[in-house]
Amino acid sequence: MRRGKKWLPKGWAARVPATIVEPMSGNHPRRGLTLHNEGVDRDCTPGHVVALARYVVGQRINYHAVWCPRCGQWAQCAPFTAAARSQVGGPVWKGASANKAGTVNIQIAVAAYGYRDFTRTHLRGAWVLAEIMDAHRIPWRARKVWGLGASRSVTSWMRSGVHGHQHGPQDDHTDPGSINAAALFREARRQQKARRARQKAKR
Ligand SMILES: [Zn+2]
Repeated sequence: MRRGKKWLPKGWAARVPATIVEPMSGNHPRRGLTLHNEGVDRDCTPGHVVALARYVVGQRINYHAVWCPRCGQWAQCAPFTAAARSQVGGPVWKGASANKAGTVNIQIAVAAYGYRDFTRTHLRGAWVLAEIMDAHRIPWRARKVWGLGASRSVTSWMRSGVHGHQHGPQDDHTDPGSINAAALFREARRQQKARRARQKAKR
C-alpha cells in the first residue's frame, strides 16, 4: 500500500464509512496502532465483519478497521489519518485524548474474539496489518506486557508502536487480553513477503 494512504484498496477490505471523523491532535510525533477485540466469542459466519463494522459505526465507536483473523476479512470505517472514537477521551498529553494523542493512532478491532488469544489462530489476512503499519510508518514494536499487569502509563502510551486498548491511560478496558505480539508481527511479515513475491512472479 502507498505511503500515507487513508483507505485500504477496495479489493482488500469492505468499506463501511463512519459518519463522524475527528482530526488527530498532531502535536506529538507518536505513531501508534491500538488493538481491540469484539469482547465476545463468536462463530465466524459470512458477513460478520461487515456486520460488526456497521454496528460500531451506528454506535459512533468508529474503529478504523475491523478484522477477523479466522476468515481473513477486513472492513474499514474511518480514514487512517483521522481519530477513531473507540477509547475514552481525557487529557493525556497536553490536552490530547488517548484517542487522538499523536500523529496517528490506528485502531483495529479483532472480530469474533472475546478473551481467547487470537494470535494463536492461523491469522488469515495479517498481511493487511503489515501493509497498514508500513504505509503509516508504525514502528514494529509492541508493548511488552499484555494481559494481567499491563501498564496504563502515559509515558509508555506516548511511545510509537503497537498497544492494546488495555494500555490506554484513564481507560478501564482490558481487551485484547494476553496476546503474543511477536507472533502476530512474525506472521504478518511472513504473509506480506509471500504475497509480494507472488505478485512479482505474476508481473
Ligand atoms: Zn470471520
